[in-house]
Amino acid sequence: MKKLLPTSTAGSLPKPSWLAEPEKLWSPWKLQDQILVEGKYDALRLSLQDQQLAGIDIVSDGEQTRQHFVTTFIEHLDGVDFQKRETVRIRNRYDASVPTVVGAVARRQPVFVDDARYLRKLTDQPIKWALPGPMTMIDTLYDNHYKSREKLAWEFAKILNQEAKELEAAGVDIIQFDEPAFNVFFDEVNDWGIATLERAIEGLKCETAVHICYGYGIKANTDWKKTLGSEWREYEKAFPKLQTSGIDIISLECQNSRVPMDLIELIRGKKVMVGAIDVANHTIETPEEVASTLRKALQFVDADKLYPSTNCGMAPLPRQVARGKLQALTAGADIVRKEILGQ
Ligand SMILES: [Zn+2]
Repeated sequence: MKKLLPTSTAGSLPKPSWLAEPEKLWSPWKLQDQILVEGKYDALRLSLQDQQLAGIDIVSDGEQTRQHFVTTFIEHLDGVDFQKRETVRIRNRYDASVPTVVGAVARRQPVFVDDARYLRKLTDQPIKWALPGPMTMIDTLYDNHYKSREKLAWEFAKILNQEAKELEAAGVDIIQFDEPAFNVFFDEVNDWGIATLERAIEGLKCETAVHICYGYGIKANTDWKKTLGSEWREYEKAFPKLQTSGIDIISLECQNSRVPMDLIELIRGKKVMVGAIDVANHTIETPEEVASTLRKALQFVDADKLYPSTNCGMAPLPRQVARGKLQALTAGADIVRKEILGQ
């Protein structure tokens, strides 16, 4: 990016209420068949326009074509039975009914590549595309075939790499892997989590990012955060190894969080997507609040490597709130950009 402090979102944006029930995760579609396909594409255009009207620099599809950031990708794979469901504990935090891995996993066809081509046609701005990371994928499944989290993660990494290469060919500038599980399973992160992520980006020439957060603003996550104490030092466990990895950008949560900003020092040299918008409440940040978070981050990351962003996806928020937060992000980044450039 040539522009200083380019803004982006961490991931999802709210869907129109005619497409899916608003303010809800895993919200069921309201349309069917071909009308659903058309509806998703219409929503993608609206989501892009919302980002453009708010002045966002690196745009995305707002994840309008997926019901959920992990399960929609998995639904397209062989070897996973969506009828056979088991209840598992996700990220050691909440129980969910999830599909079962019953055989060798494989990607029978591209999952998001057509969507990415469509977005590419609509804009000349840099585009970022989110995929689930291998560790977060295995944590959202019941495995009755490989019987090894690590083995299954390596298989998913290969599949993600196939998808990522085709997204790159479709014109995606930044491919982001969502790995909230990196904030939970620290031994696995260092044993094989980051290694499988590097497998997923093997051979890519576009930029790559990993998004590690404290989750959507749902109750299970806000309750969990209350147990984490006065300083959230989870990033400290994964950052040293990520600093030496091939990932270009690290996306993290900073706004209203108890993450000590000096942890960013551990990934010195990487680009840092700093979450300066809280997605867990409906209060729209003032530009000055956003600017204040960015200024704090600037103590630990060089200005040309700071990417102002949101803490996480905004799918569960009302659309007006999400729009307001996007505008606040732009306005806050503008303040700090002007300060840096001495204008
Ligand atoms: Zn997130």
